Amino acid sequence: RTEQEDIASPKRTNDLLKKHSLVLKKSLGQNFLVDPNILHKIVSSADLDVNKGVLEIGPGVGALTQQLAKKAGKVVAIEIDQRLLPLLTETLAGYAHASVIHGDILKVDLQALFQEQFKDFAQVSVVANLPYYITTPIIMKLLEEKLPLEYIVVMIQKEVASRMSAKPGGKEYGSLSIAVQYYCEPEVVTIVPKTVFIPQPNVDSAVIRLKVRQKPAVEVEDEVFFFEVVQASFVQRRKTIYNNLAVRYFTKETKGQLEAILLEAGIDPVRRGETLSMEEYARLSSCLSKALGRA
Ligand code: SAM
Repeated sequence: RTEQEDIASPKRTNDLLKKHSLVLKKSLGQNFLVDPNILHKIVSSADLDVNKGVLEIGPGVGALTQQLAKKAGKVVAIEIDQRLLPLLTETLAGYAHASVIHGDILKVDLQALFQEQFKDFAQVSVVANLPYYITTPIIMKLLEEKLPLEYIVVMIQKEVASRMSAKPGGKEYGSLSIAVQYYCEPEVVTIVPKTVFIPQPNVDSAVIRLKVRQKPAVEVEDEVFFFEVVQASFVQRRKTIYNNLAVRYFTKETKGQLEAILLEAGIDPVRRGETLSMEEYARLSSCLSKALGRA
C-alpha cells in the first residue's frame, strides 16, 4: 500500500467529510486543522525521529497523524468519535506504524497503554490539536500520572497558553501556571488564527510546547497540600494572601498565627497570591503544613 495523499487542505478535508456523510460535532471540539504550515510547526517542534513514539489525542480525520507518522517510529491516536474510524483507516493506509484506538482520553488507562504500546521506545511525546472543551483536564491527567514523556506539544486556546506560561505578577498567572510549570518548562511556539480550521472556532489558538521536567521544579514534601495551598491563594484574586489563607485554614480565634507563618516563609502578608513565585509557594506550604500539624 502506498501513503495516502496529505489531507491538510480545506478542499480535501471537506471532500472526505462529504464522502463519509459526516457532520462535525461542536460538542466534541471538532475543529480540524487544514493548514500544512501550522502542521509542520507542530511536528517540527516535537523533535521526532524514528526512535521516538507519539501519543495523539483526537486525530479527527488524520491530518496531523499523517505528518507525525512520517517522522516518528510509532503513533498511537485515541479518538472518541467512532464515526471517524473508517475515515481514519482510509487516511492512514500506508502508515502501518500508526494506529487508532477508539476511546475517551479522560477514561483511558494511560499507564497500561504506555506499557503495551511504547515499551520499546525510550522517548514518547504527546502531540495533539486538543478538543478545547477539555484542555485542562487532559493536560492535568498527563502531568499528574507522571507519564514518562519528553514533550507535550499541543494546540490550545491562546488564552490558556498564556495562562500556562505566565510568570508571577500578572493577571494570567494562577494555579494553572503553577501546576504546568511545576512539571514542565512551557514555551509558546506560535499563535494560530481561527482561519486555519474547519469549521472556524470562536477563539484564537496557540501551539504550546511543554518540555516535561525529569523532576518537579521545586521540592515539596506533600504535593497534594502544596497544590491545595496554591488553589486557596487564588480563590479571591483581589484579596491578600493572608485573607485567602485565613478563610481556608483558620478561624477568627486561630488566625492570629497566620501572620507569623507567612513571615517565617518570607512572605509579606499583604501581598496577593498572584505575586508569589513557585518557590515561595513551596516554602509557604511547608511552613503552613507544620503549623497546622500536618507534617
Ligand atoms: N487532530 C485533528 C486535527 O488536527 O485536525 C482533530 C483535532 S479536533 C480539535 C479534536 C479531536 O478530538 C476531534 O477529532 C474529537 O472528536 C476528538 N475528541 C474529543 N473529545 C475527545 C476525548 N474525550 N477523547 C478522545 N478524543 C476526543
